[in-house]
Amino acid sequence: MKRQEIITCLQKILDAEQINTNQEDLYDASADRYKKYAKARNVLDVPMPVAIVYPYNTEEISKLLKLCNTHQINVIPRAGKTATEGGLENWKEETIVIDALHLNRIIDIDTYNMQATVEAGVPLQMLEDELRELGFTTGHSPQSKPVAKYGGLVATRSIGQLSTYYGAIEDMVVGLECVFPDGQICRIKNVPRRSGGPDIRHIAIGNEGALCYITEVTVKIFTFHPQNNKFFGYLVKDIDTGIRVLREVVVNGFHPSVARTYSEEDAAQHFYHFHRGHCVLLFMAEGPKGIVDATSEAIEAAVALHKAGIIEQVDSVLIEDWFNNLNWSQQDIDDEFEGMKEHDAHAGYTTEISADWKSIPVIYHNVIKRIREEYPRAHDLTMLGGHSSHSYINGTNMYFVYNYDIHCAPQDEMRIYHHPLQKIIVEETLKLGGSMCHHHGIGKFRNEWTQAEHGSAYYMLEKLKSAFDPNGIMNFGTIFYQEEGHKFQQ
Ligand SMILES: Cc1cc2nc3c(=O)[nH]c(=O)nc-3n(C[C@H](O)[C@H](O)[C@H](O)COP(=O)(O)OP(=O)(O)OC[C@H]3O[C@@H](n4cnc5c(N)ncnc54)[C@H](O)[C@@H]3O)c2cc1C
Repeated sequence: MKRQEIITCLQKILDAEQINTNQEDLYDASADRYKKYAKARNVLDVPMPVAIVYPYNTEEISKLLKLCNTHQINVIPRAGKTATEGGLENWKEETIVIDALHLNRIIDIDTYNMQATVEAGVPLQMLEDELRELGFTTGHSPQSKPVAKYGGLVATRSIGQLSTYYGAIEDMVVGLECVFPDGQICRIKNVPRRSGGPDIRHIAIGNEGALCYITEVTVKIFTFHPQNNKFFGYLVKDIDTGIRVLREVVVNGFHPSVARTYSEEDAAQHFYHFHRGHCVLLFMAEGPKGIVDATSEAIEAAVALHKAGIIEQVDSVLIEDWFNNLNWSQQDIDDEFEGMKEHDAHAGYTTEISADWKSIPVIYHNVIKRIREEYPRAHDLTMLGGHSSHSYINGTNMYFVYNYDIHCAPQDEMRIYHHPLQKIIVEETLKLGGSMCHHHGIGKFRNEWTQAEHGSAYYMLEKLKSAFDPNGIMNFGTIFYQEEGHKFQQ
């Protein structure tokens, strides 16, 4: 279908004000933060979508998906636009972006059954603010909290800073509504638990817009006790000590809301005013007073047990202060982008992986060693380190962080600088049985490793794609490797 024909078809479903063909907006919609430097320098090498559309309800989305399915038009679902792995990047000439802008209603806050229902375009901050007024919280606090919206949070399996206490988004989603490419609307009801076959919520949760469009979500809510919050911070000799203390606390059954340890280099970025060249370990205990007291005792006991690796305790006010200034606003995101337009020829990226307790320090050291020895642009690296920020009974994550000065054409940055770094991190993780993606999703830029990530279980993932999206119209190239998209990949 030609671009104008697509627009004519869209006009039969939507009003004119719901169809955006402004060239600047289409350029913006053709990539996300993954290619922020090339995007800022106006040299993106991907096609622009035909239009961005703003449906008001599920029925309009169903009609749009049916249209796209019939005419092989690629669809990119969009919510808060904070995607980091290319989930919003466009690799097809014939694409429409379905933006959740008008799906912005908080439908219900039920404080007796402890759940809230929202449309996919509701910003997390909006629900959090409403709940706080009532003495409750979502418990979800990703760094993108002021900007990200529920559709995107659920579609990427996001996780917040308080995950060790409240869980990640998949622990919070009770039920949801979603629409498949053939127009089928499915509502998964809200029950505390059931054993009615496989848990089909997980077909939508984490689908990154590659299987269905999420229109509505019901999440658990929690009572909020900020007056009880306690913060703990320590300088530690090495990241291995930090990881051992995290493990000690978590395997003994305690759930501090924040439990993190930073390498020296990463600590220097976050705690420049007190790290003194050391690694940092920190905790926040949250919840009813009895829980906070017990958790605090467990933290102190774990630190005492590993005292040989602890340099000193830091003032808890410094940790509280850090926590209160951690999130990124839309202004912060815009400022970074504006800076890249003309002045800043450097970039910062992250790759977050997970593995069991034994493997995680090994992966960390192997990655750092390999990058230092093999990475051809090591001389341009201005920072390389990482932190563990989400822990579980059987392991934890590692969030590799790297910054570099860019000395190449903007359109070559990903190929020359980013891809070789990410490749080392992914290879070292998969080698030891870890996961190459803890919470940012696969997007389009880790799809070359999706099969390796899942091994023999890739069969199941592939079947979902062919069953629910047989014409391949949902977010082409996301999660699933596509030969045709390879030219845009690195
Ligand atoms: C500064 C910053 C900090 C961040 N911190 C965190 C963090 O702490 N934890 C974390 O987990 N992530 C974090 N992220 C990553 C990002 O915020 C999350 O992945 C977030 O969940 C994306 O939500 P969004 O509303 O912005 O979605 P978008 O960016 O709009 O979309 C993300 C993906 O979801 C798909 N999608 C969007 N809406 C729908 C829908 N309705 N149905 C189906 N698919 C859909 C899109 O196609 C895309 O693939 C951060 C990002 C930034 C920029």
